[in-house]
Amino acid sequence: MRIFDISRKLVNGMPVWPGDTAFQYEVSWPMEESGSVNVGRLELSTHTGTHVDAPFHFDNDGKRISELDLNLYIGPARVIDLPPEIESISIEELKEVDLDGVTRVLFRTCAWKNGTVFPEKIPHIEPELAPYLAKKGIRLIGLDVPSVDPIDSKELPAHHSLNENGIHILESLILDKIVPGDYELIALPLPLVEGDGSPVRAILRQW
Ligand SMILES: [Zn+2]
Repeated sequence: MRIFDISRKLVNGMPVWPGDTAFQYEVSWPMEESGSVNVGRLELSTHTGTHVDAPFHFDNDGKRISELDLNLYIGPARVIDLPPEIESISIEELKEVDLDGVTRVLFRTCAWKNGTVFPEKIPHIEPELAPYLAKKGIRLIGLDVPSVDPIDSKELPAHHSLNENGIHILESLILDKIVPGDYELIALPLPLVEGDGSPVRAILRQW
């Protein structure tokens, strides 16, 4: 069995959403002080690196991370290749794509070229795509960019449309080295009781 790590590295100085909390790890209780162990301290946004969004992120009445069904984040997934110069992902781009029997779909755009800086422009999901995907049986979409909406969007139409159609969101994957096809996805969120999002360690497995 092969394992492919599709998670962004969590490291001081890594790019975060403009205005959001910077990621910071430090050894706050070093061995010299504790006498036996190094203990670290983390400061981070719930949307750091590869992460899932809970509906509460964009809807005050939405579900929190701990209320989400873990089955969403573990199971068969299909990786679909899309051109990096794509403006947005709509029904048009997917009409030739076979999604029969697919529950989790990951869109590989490779549009986030330099992972050391936050992207200014990304391909977004057209809100009309959500009911189309839902009809196909999709319950989770993953992207290799930090949002399903344009970076400067305030209304977040794709977030809302996906949520209304029962589709959950996994963002900021790294899919550059992944050959399109079928895998098993594992990307479990932390049990953050009130969380609006959670970093995940996302992997693909293939037999
Ligand atoms: Zn997010």
